Amino acid sequence: MSLSLPWISDEVQRLKKRFRVQSPQELCDALHILILHSPMGTVPEACKGFTLCQDGVFVISVNADMGEDMQKWVLAHETGHAVLHTALLRDHPLLDIHPFSMEHILEREANLFAAEWLLDDADIMELVHDGHDFYAIASLLHVPPVLLAYKVQFLAGRGISLLSPIPGCGDFLSALPLQVPET
Ligand SMILES: [Zn+2]
Repeated sequence: MSLSLPWISDEVQRLKKRFRVQSPQELCDALHILILHSPMGTVPEACKGFTLCQDGVFVISVNADMGEDMQKWVLAHETGHAVLHTALLRDHPLLDIHPFSMEHILEREANLFAAEWLLDDADIMELVHDGHDFYAIASLLHVPPVLLAYKVQFLAGRGISLLSPIPGCGDFLSALPLQVPET
């Protein structure tokens, strides 16, 4: 098992408990992280979001031209950067053109954080028991399949068996659309 998994899972539980929050938005409010929703375009290569630290204040910008579900996911991803990569962000802004890329360790960690924060084990377990496959579950939960693939990595260690057909690498992820397909 990757060393990131227990660390990130513990961080998610610790932050939810400490600040008594459910959403990344509420966590940002509690941590005084500013959230901006700014139009950044709809072309496939548009920036989906970024996180920076200016004069000690953390700011997350999310592309407001994306669909609502995608904005939620990108905010969770950026919040992951803000809480997991705090020291790094004080020196370097993290610009996310392809935030769901599995190729870079920082992106992988932010994606694990977003998946663990937003996806509930019990919801997925119920859908697995109802006989839905991986892509059906992603669609029913309104999540990009690649994010469900990150959650599957946590579930494997908890006895919840869900086969992910998406490999842990590949640059096809850069083509992830700005809108989560509707069910
Ligand atoms: Zn990122």
